[in-house]
Amino acid sequence: MTDQDSFRRFVFEHIGVRGELVRLDASWQAVLERHPYPAAVSNQLGQALAAVLLLSATIKFEGSLILQAQSQGPLHTLVAQATHRRAIRGLAQWRDEVPAGALQDIYGAGRLVLTIQNEGAEPYQGIVALEGANLAEAIQSYFSRSEQLATRLWLAADGERAAGLFIQELPAQMGNPTDWQRVALLANTVTETELLRLPDESLLYRLFNEESVRLFEPEPVTFRCSCSRERIETVLRTLGRKEVESVLKEQGSVNVNCEFCNRRYAFDPVDIHALFSGAMTLPAPHTQH
Ligand SMILES: [Zn+2]
Repeated sequence: MTDQDSFRRFVFEHIGVRGELVRLDASWQAVLERHPYPAAVSNQLGQALAAVLLLSATIKFEGSLILQAQSQGPLHTLVAQATHRRAIRGLAQWRDEVPAGALQDIYGAGRLVLTIQNEGAEPYQGIVALEGANLAEAIQSYFSRSEQLATRLWLAADGERAAGLFIQELPAQMGNPTDWQRVALLANTVTETELLRLPDESLLYRLFNEESVRLFEPEPVTFRCSCSRERIETVLRTLGRKEVESVLKEQGSVNVNCEFCNRRYAFDPVDIHALFSGAMTLPAPHTQH
């Protein structure tokens, strides 16, 4: 069996329900290689990455979808991002020991912020409480509030893989609720092991063998961080000359690590001087005389 990171759509023919399957293998390993996480933390991050990928179909043209958990508990920060090219990145920050188990024990009181950035449009943000049996349930409550379309998702992650299953009623469907209910009941019998280990075809057959399901070709998924020296320079300029020069004075150079990919950006005194003198004298880029 060949393992492949993929995003894959499917449809239930004649009954107006669509679905998606995602599997993260090498891309998930790439995330884990950059940061060692305790199992309870990586389990949540893997699920969040599978989730943003499932939801990335809502990006209309070019852009990205970001899921952020902000809370008071042991796992206090979780960020997962997927772009329209199905590139993912993510990070988690925690304190103390993070227990495995209910959302409330893992995150404490907190919220889930979902941001959709479509190129050339104002970002759209939805916020729900971090409540429910698991991350999938918390995300579902976002859909039940913001969209009329019935939506369900299932997520799983371990040290090797992360995976997700998503089903949604089609907007054109005038609604035969019994079809939706039947499909949702069948999908809900999925186990974590099946989600993580079964090939796409076998998984769909196991769940929906009495339905007529059309599975589309997989789209590749990659781990890719969008950080760059240019972006870090913008951050340093925003911090201000005084602040950056005091770090320089203290440490001899300014070193910034990207939290997502752990890449290190180093600025020596000459770089810093150029950064701020450049910012002062550079003309507006599109001005012509
Ligand atoms: Zn990076």
